[in-house]
Amino acid sequence: MIYKQLSYLPIIFQVDEGIVLGVDEYLRRNKLSFTNILVVSGKNYSNKIGALVADKNGWNRYTLEDNTFREVELLKTYVNRYNIDLLVGVGGGKVIDTVKRVGYLSNTNNLSIPTIISNDGLISPISVIKNELGKTESLPAMMPMGVIIDIDIIKESPVKFLQAAAGDVLANLSATNDWVLAFQQDRERMNDIAFHLSRSAVSSLINFDEIHLLSKSFLRLLVQGLVNSGIAMALSGTSRPCSGSEHQISHAIDFLEYGEGVLHGTQVGSISLFSLFLQNKVEAKQMKFARTVGIPLLFDGLIRNFSSRRFEEIIDKSREMRPGRYSILDMLTTNQVMEKYEEFRAFIKSNNF
Ligand SMILES: [Zn+2]
Repeated sequence: MIYKQLSYLPIIFQVDEGIVLGVDEYLRRNKLSFTNILVVSGKNYSNKIGALVADKNGWNRYTLEDNTFREVELLKTYVNRYNIDLLVGVGGGKVIDTVKRVGYLSNTNNLSIPTIISNDGLISPISVIKNELGKTESLPAMMPMGVIIDIDIIKESPVKFLQAAAGDVLANLSATNDWVLAFQQDRERMNDIAFHLSRSAVSSLINFDEIHLLSKSFLRLLVQGLVNSGIAMALSGTSRPCSGSEHQISHAIDFLEYGEGVLHGTQVGSISLFSLFLQNKVEAKQMKFARTVGIPLLFDGLIRNFSSRRFEEIIDKSREMRPGRYSILDMLTTNQVMEKYEEFRAFIKSNNF
């Protein structure tokens, strides 16, 4: 059988406080040397950090406007013209994704220094790029050869990003439960290592003593959770370890444009609690975790003009969002899902979560 499998993972992986200026040292430690290094950042906060990194080492800088096809082309042309042999992406998802995409198209090494974490795409061979119509497309990208996450920088990002990151990791629970269902029904194969990486990412967070988005030890665990999720997806060659019914419902809300614009991770994290309820797997500590990090326990508040008509539409649409992906939704009719939601509401109320 032929299946996609990851051929390499980042060789530099550092998560700590105050490490952003250590890039050159991490390269040296790995006996890596480059001639033309380019630091690529966004326009705002990341620009400042990019300048610090570039100035310290005398590297050149490049500022991105956006994550569009046009920006990809412009950066690619620059990389080719100046024989850049290492791209250092400093910024949020848009910068990192553009850099990884250009790395792929120009066959250039790249290293990521995220300034924001909000989802598990942190380490992945996928880039989300905006096409001419303003719609995003997921395209092949080059896996970064290194990821350096400075906790001091991540902490500066608005708390909603950290919340979203926690939500996307929380979703691993319902996603892996759905994966087991699919496996038991002989619909999908199982990758044990990917499964355990995904599960341990979320259980280490939920079982942590001091759940607090601004605590450094919690943030470190959160970042590691995101990274392990990314590796799980890379190992299995699909988003399966981190994406189940909660992502299907979330994608349906986005597709129908019924969302209130909350970040992806917060949305899937919130829906995952309901997915766990559908799976008969919900536990008090999961609910408490969500409440502590500020993820809504009921996701109807994330939907504009919520009504049972809209809910029905969302559940029907969610069945089409990932063709071939089996989940708890396949075991229930839309009416049953809707009835379960009312039970879920009562469950939250009676338990005072
Ligand atoms: Zn996600």
